[in-house]
Amino acid sequence: MPIIDNLNKIKAELPANVKLIAVSKTKPIKDILDVYNSGHRIFGENKAQELSEKQPLLPNDIEWHFIGHLQSNKVKYIAPFVDLIHSVDSVKLLGEINKHAKKNDRIIDCLLQFHIATEENKFGLNLREALSIMNSDYFKTLENVRIKGIMGMATFTDDMDLIREEFKSLKASFDELKTQHFSNIDSFCEISMGMSEDYKVAIEEGSTLVRIGNAIFGARN
Ligand SMILES: *Cc1c(COP(=O)(O)O)cnc(C)c1O
Repeated sequence: MPIIDNLNKIKAELPANVKLIAVSKTKPIKDILDVYNSGHRIFGENKAQELSEKQPLLPNDIEWHFIGHLQSNKVKYIAPFVDLIHSVDSVKLLGEINKHAKKNDRIIDCLLQFHIATEENKFGLNLREALSIMNSDYFKTLENVRIKGIMGMATFTDDMDLIREEFKSLKASFDELKTQHFSNIDSFCEISMGMSEDYKVAIEEGSTLVRIGNAIFGARN
């Protein structure tokens, strides 16, 4: 089965400290189940609605990662079950996630999304903004969210040198946040970077979570 061959080939190359998120957006339940039945458990989706529709149709021990831009009014759809939200790009969104986590009597793990690409239309914080959220009194009141690291998307380009520089800048931001705010907090340990076309560079630059869709499931329509 080509999907499973793709998956196994990628998995065989990954260092032990790097986790693979199989990005199943737009893909049917059948394909996801094939990957699940091969033993894989971590999947990623980028739309709250699509994720909330798929989740009840699939096994309960899937670890669901939300990787797309998340609007505050959509948090409620995924709050009962989501395992990691990669895309926290505002204090407002973080507050909303906290509120729904509390309602569901759970703590939701999150990553802060950083803007590292040259494209303006990509979302994310810069280091100054991230630090100001982390150092705020308001953040201290958010007891139902846990910040586990940061995430970024490189520019959509063939220029691997540019992509590498962007991943280096994300790693530098992680290190700075770690030093300034999370030095005693072991759970702040994740750097989510790398997709089908650039995950090898991302791993060389320190990624701990790669988000791979096309290279597993085949091209999306
Ligand atoms: C779609 C998507 C991916 C996976 O992209 P591929 O090129 O299919 O590997 C990774 N991260 C995010 C945020 C995405 O939206």
